[in-house]
Amino acid sequence: MTPEEFREAGHQLIDWIADYRTNLERAPVRSVVSPGEVRSAFDAKPPTETLAFETLLERMDQVVVPGVMQVQHPMHFGWFPANATLSSVLGDIASSGLGTLGLSWESCPSLTEVEEVVVDWLRQLCGMSDQWTGAIQDTASTATVTAAFAARERATGLAQNSGGLQSEPRPLCFYTTSQAHSSVAKAALLAGIGWDNITMVQTDPVTFAMDPNDLRSKIRADIDAGKLPAMIVACSGSTGVTAFDPLDEVADVVASFVGETGVDEPIWLHVDAAMAGSAMMLEEMRPLFDGAERADSLTWNPHKWMGAILDCSLLYVRNSAELTSVMATNPSYLRSAADGAVTQYRDWGIPLGRRFRALKVWFQLELDGVDAIQARLRRDLANAKWFADQVEAAEDWELVAPLTLQTVCVRHRPPGLTGDALDAHTLAWLERINSSGAAFCSASRLGDGWMVRVSVGVETTESRHLEALWQLFQESVNL
Ligand code: PLP
Repeated sequence: MTPEEFREAGHQLIDWIADYRTNLERAPVRSVVSPGEVRSAFDAKPPTETLAFETLLERMDQVVVPGVMQVQHPMHFGWFPANATLSSVLGDIASSGLGTLGLSWESCPSLTEVEEVVVDWLRQLCGMSDQWTGAIQDTASTATVTAAFAARERATGLAQNSGGLQSEPRPLCFYTTSQAHSSVAKAALLAGIGWDNITMVQTDPVTFAMDPNDLRSKIRADIDAGKLPAMIVACSGSTGVTAFDPLDEVADVVASFVGETGVDEPIWLHVDAAMAGSAMMLEEMRPLFDGAERADSLTWNPHKWMGAILDCSLLYVRNSAELTSVMATNPSYLRSAADGAVTQYRDWGIPLGRRFRALKVWFQLELDGVDAIQARLRRDLANAKWFADQVEAAEDWELVAPLTLQTVCVRHRPPGLTGDALDAHTLAWLERINSSGAAFCSASRLGDGWMVRVSVGVETTESRHLEALWQLFQESVNL
């Protein structure tokens, strides 16, 4: 494709995207395709002839779009807001168009330095002190496993440079809660910790937040049993109910064990704020994150509520040398005269080659503006509060967890319905809504029962959409 051909097709593509977003509200929220249906619309053999761009766009409409769960739809309340603001889409297109190769500072100085700028802007916007530096990772899962590697190496005094985990005399232990995202246990497993050494700390029965006293006793028990506590992952906004672990108290526990674990360094404290981190952009919400300054690492995803299109997750660390000493490589073919004077982002995570992801953040911040982003987040908080108020006030409806942010956790409990019958009722009324295409919410287990999560925060969701959803909820339980 020549640049001129690209220009022509590109204009059509931008029109197609703009039309798609404009008309999205009319589409069913949940994809209606059956497993294998999209695949079967393609030839099994690779193409032997070229297609006209118009035909390709028709195929997008006919084959691809029906297989898309419309997470940008204003009636999408599933999982979490995966906003892909159009300003950030432009930045993503610009990144693709530049076709950069981020292997080292030298391979694209702008890629490194714009990333340094936007990561620091977001730090400031979140009210984090200038002790923190960070990098963009693809996802929070990657950020957390990266932090887990650093935690492991802190606890073992950089054992990777000798016998590694296999030469450790004591098993390392990680601590989190049952509310943590599955990526946390996955990070521990990938870091070689093993299921037996992942300790689930008790949570408060009402708030589902980590119980620091239980954390303290579990760490004590592990030390007494000859184990080495290495990492705590605290949730700031857990996946199911948006629980906020008491970071200050957790940091107090960490401080109380300095010198007790048999190694000089404190237990690594990582904060998973993947979904909720956007709320740090609102000064009034920052008390939820009190104590985060005392952690060693923190991850949050601009690609969720804030709206920089996936993939864009931030990993901040308080001491970057601890991370880079674990992650650094220095292959001869990548050396340059700038080494030592510049940031080498390959030393901040797992991949070598990186995309110019900072552009989508930069575009979003410049084009939408911080004020508008903050206003949108506040609108979503108010909408979630309105919805929670309706649930609380209605007979037979209940909030199964306190509303901390923008996710409302709901159950409809007709008198006398419990256990499996209640679960069947919950899943049935939700399925009636989801299969109608009018809205989408996701179900999730809480304790030993199912609940429905209303995750408010799609960019185009306004109060009228919440009103419509509440109407749907009431109709669906009466069918
Ligand atoms: N942590 C929390 C609290 C989450 O809610 C999620 C995703 O929903 C993740 C981690 C995983 O995020 P990612 O898809 O960026 O790995």
